Amino acid sequence: KLPKLSTNTYDEYPLNYTHNKTNFERENATLLMLVRNMELDGALKSMRSLEDRFNRNYNYDWTFLNDVPFTEEFIEATSAMASGKAQYGLIPSNDWDRPNWINETKFESKIKEMEDNGVLYGGSKSYRNMCRFNSGYFFRQELLSNYDYYFRVEPNVDYFCDFPYDPFKIMKEKHKKYGFVITIYEYEETIPTLWDAVEEYIKVDNGQDIDMETNAVKFITDKSLVGRYYPIVHSNSSYNLCHFWSNFEIGDLNFFRSEEYIKFFEFLDATGGFYYERWGDAPVHSILVSLLLDRDEIIHFDQLGYTHLPFDTCPTAYHLQLDQRCLCDPGREENIDITPNSCLMRWWKNGAGKSFMREG
Ligand code: GDP
Ligand code: MN
Repeated sequence: KLPKLSTNTYDEYPLNYTHNKTNFERENATLLMLVRNMELDGALKSMRSLEDRFNRNYNYDWTFLNDVPFTEEFIEATSAMASGKAQYGLIPSNDWDRPNWINETKFESKIKEMEDNGVLYGGSKSYRNMCRFNSGYFFRQELLSNYDYYFRVEPNVDYFCDFPYDPFKIMKEKHKKYGFVITIYEYEETIPTLWDAVEEYIKVDNGQDIDMETNAVKFITDKSLVGRYYPIVHSNSSYNLCHFWSNFEIGDLNFFRSEEYIKFFEFLDATGGFYYERWGDAPVHSILVSLLLDRDEIIHFDQLGYTHLPFDTCPTAYHLQLDQRCLCDPGREENIDITPNSCLMRWWKNGAGKSFMREG
């Protein structure tokens, strides 16, 4: 008798998780897009893709956030594209704009320096507001207060395959709090002192919220392995620069709203690093998720084909490509999954591994 082959999530869950038109329950969740009015076309493309590949069968709500009011045109077109309810929120200035305790002289000279050095978005003020908002404020917006889960969507992304399950249901039933599809290295020049601040906080926290035995710290810090398993040295600190690419993320809002997350964020924010440097929400989420959560609470959704320029992820299994009607090529140059730019091998080795298969 052959042993049961169950390394593939699809084999294990086709009946439980495939959409059943007459008998299914939505989770308490929303699709979430922070977006500018001028990005309407890109927003509609992303919506069209996600509706077609997933949401037309589920009709989850869409939540749109903006630091200025949405135009009538934006609201009309996106509401028409949504299969569920669509709601629109204006971000309060306090949650978006540069705080007045930022030293303006220092700020101006720092961003000029980063721009001159050719750092990506190094000279942008609004990009910094966006990264800080996505790190510490999106989950506190009133429109999200009654939801448990969000699925972040950006303009101009594409989902290559039919979803084989409702990812929100996986989150709920498997007790997952953070889900990703792509993990890569951050540009070190955007976060020169982020890890120093994190190490300081680890001392302050003193093991209260951070459990180094059960968390995913080994995924983001593996200096001892550099040169041994991974020939490319990416980093000067013991943070290896690995981060979950946050333009796709599915998360538990209650985790982000928790005291442990907010305390950690406020500590980082108080250094001014979001403005004097250019800390991205991706490394911030990733570090806090990897330190505060149990590593089994993080999930790699490995069946969801996805692209956001300049990278793709695409399932490699042939039967899966057929079953999920994928329109992607795992051999394409843009496919990041097992290239040297990807942290996925580190995730497999030092992250949660096959925790998807275990009961939470
Ligand atoms: P990138 O993916 O790092 O190149 O950054 P994006 O330009 O895609 O920005 C990330 C997300 O924030 C996208 O959903 C954008 O639509 C959104 N975003 C960026 N800047 C602003 C802004 O100034 N206002 C608003 N409302 N959304 C923004
Ligand atoms: Mn983007």
